[in-house]
Amino acid sequence: MKKKYLTTPIYYVNGKPHLGHAYTTILCDAFKRFYKLFGYQAIMITGVDEHGQKVYEAAAEKKMDTQAYCDSLIPDFTGLFEKCDVDYDMFFRTTDTSHKIKVQAILQKLYDKGDIFKDDYEGNYCTPCETFFTEKDLNDGRCPECGRGTTLIKEQNYFFDMAKYAGEYEKFLSERDDFIYPRFRKNEVLGILKKGLRPLCISRKKEKMPWGIELPFDKDFVTYVWFDALTNYINGIGYMEDEEKFASYWPTAVNMIGKDILLHHCIYWPTMLMAMGNPLPKEILIHGWWMGEGGKKMSKSLGNVIDPDEIIEKYGSSSFRFFVLRDMSLGHDGIFSMESFFKRHNVELANDFGNLLNRASHMIVKNFDGKVPAPVKKTEFCDAFVNDFVNVLSGIEPLIYEYELNKALDDIMKLIRGTNKYMEDCAPWKLIKNDRELCGSVLYNALEAVRITGLLLSPVIPKKFEEIKNIFKGSIEPELEFGKLVPGREINKAVPLFPKIETDPKKTGKSN
Ligand SMILES: [Zn+2]
Repeated sequence: MKKKYLTTPIYYVNGKPHLGHAYTTILCDAFKRFYKLFGYQAIMITGVDEHGQKVYEAAAEKKMDTQAYCDSLIPDFTGLFEKCDVDYDMFFRTTDTSHKIKVQAILQKLYDKGDIFKDDYEGNYCTPCETFFTEKDLNDGRCPECGRGTTLIKEQNYFFDMAKYAGEYEKFLSERDDFIYPRFRKNEVLGILKKGLRPLCISRKKEKMPWGIELPFDKDFVTYVWFDALTNYINGIGYMEDEEKFASYWPTAVNMIGKDILLHHCIYWPTMLMAMGNPLPKEILIHGWWMGEGGKKMSKSLGNVIDPDEIIEKYGSSSFRFFVLRDMSLGHDGIFSMESFFKRHNVELANDFGNLLNRASHMIVKNFDGKVPAPVKKTEFCDAFVNDFVNVLSGIEPLIYEYELNKALDDIMKLIRGTNKYMEDCAPWKLIKNDRELCGSVLYNALEAVRITGLLLSPVIPKKFEEIKNIFKGSIEPELEFGKLVPGREINKAVPLFPKIETDPKKTGKSN
């Protein structure tokens, strides 16, 4: 069986998760489900990054033991992912003993090779970003990533010699146009490589910051949080533990990340893997950010923060997932506006898809004893409908492999609207009066479209898909091929799955 391995970043536990965490994790989950739908053995891992100064300081501020502080935040993450219907195969924690042992083995290996060495260090450190910057990187003395103030740190430290692998990596990139998605990000990475890579400081003095994995060759230091965290991607799939699993899954890996951690994933991580002698992942997918109304960055002070918990509570996980996967052009920034959210729900789910679900099943239950009629006759509209359907359908799987998720969803909606139009053209509610066989054929085709579009939407709206399956008495023919619906099998009437959201203030009685 073909394999696929998908990862989210592991998230810092220095606060509660927000829309960004929900989005990356839903994105990864949806791709895992698409791959499974297309016959792959697909595995997804997500988790948390528990080490580092930010976490250490956040715990200290709360006067809590650092590990206890981390433990206390885990349910916020697992709880949100559960609400988002995420089906991960592993929740990775960097404080797990097996991970710590592997990180130390990796550090020792690179130290023995001479890729890690000790040197003097002076740099401007941004604590929230856990990153060192040189004087010229800074913007008016402030962090170029987040704009906060930095601290000048001078000390002896251990360094990873990234530059040693820069040439090999640049050559790899020049041969592999599909390594970084979207493609325009590759130029950004090549730009960083062209400027030249400095050795990466990978240690922190324990007396200043003890919350990390101890360097196996110097007990006075712990390792830099990124050096520890990035290895979760290989450690979670059997590295140094189950070599067969590792060898079969790791080369298929897609590391999904937000654009703010490009440097760590497209520079540090590939050079680390090369130093270890491991293959690189198949791809790194970099998504944009969700902006608030008007394209402004979400912030508490602007009052435009979208709380995934609240939306799911009010409108359900499926509508939330549908919106975030449908409305963002993957790789670019998107705008989360409630107006667009209501429109997607009301027009596409409630109206277009809801109508399709109801019509065919209701007529079959009412007029054909609830048994799927056989398609024995044709109307003038049937061949054109089936041809168009099959045509659009055949393009959807390739779009998913190309990460054109919103185009794939466009096409799925096209199939749904095309089927609604076909029903209107054929008017089976008229045919039933004078040509029962012809009516049955039209209903067969329409219900077949329900089955296939339901399957295609299942990675996006998994919870509602369970209810769609009820139409098919709980078991649905799994083939993504038109005509596989078995005539004669019994079905149920669809119940309304996507009630319209009332947005007219006069009717809801609310002031906004
Ligand atoms: Zn910063």
